[in-house]
Amino acid sequence: MQLDDLYRRVIMDHYKKPHNQGQMEDGSVSVDLNNPTCGDRISLQLRVVENVVTNAKFSGEGCSISMSSASMMTDAIKGKSLQEALALADGFSRLMRGEAVEFEYEDIEALSGVNKFPARIKCATLAWNALKKSVLQLNPEAASSYGSGSNDN
Ligand code: ZN
Repeated sequence: MQLDDLYRRVIMDHYKKPHNQGQMEDGSVSVDLNNPTCGDRISLQLRVVENVVTNAKFSGEGCSISMSSASMMTDAIKGKSLQEALALADGFSRLMRGEAVEFEYEDIEALSGVNKFPARIKCATLAWNALKKSVLQLNPEAASSYGSGSNDN
């Protein structure tokens, strides 16, 4: 298994010094998910004010792929609307299918090599699935209107 060196470094940086790790007192939603195949587990908390993710924190444990992905995901969604967060999750799914997807937050692209290792894809998508589940709990309409191109706030 040879991931590109640069990508590997980005992943290990996030794994060793995860961003947004911890818990918050004033979270709007909290979702726990695990990936039994690898033993990864994550608890994700979001604070959402007027449809915008104002804070995101996670705790949990797992392999470098799952934890670095959670670190990157929580960075990427801060300041985004729920719809934008879902669009990012969709982009990440496409990245895992081997499509070339560019992210404003470029660190995420370091996980692109994971698509060559099907067993690890569930590690990488764990945090993003927790995000999707959180958005659904907060606002089922955000999920159903996503993709329609309309945004009538
Ligand atoms: Zn894993």
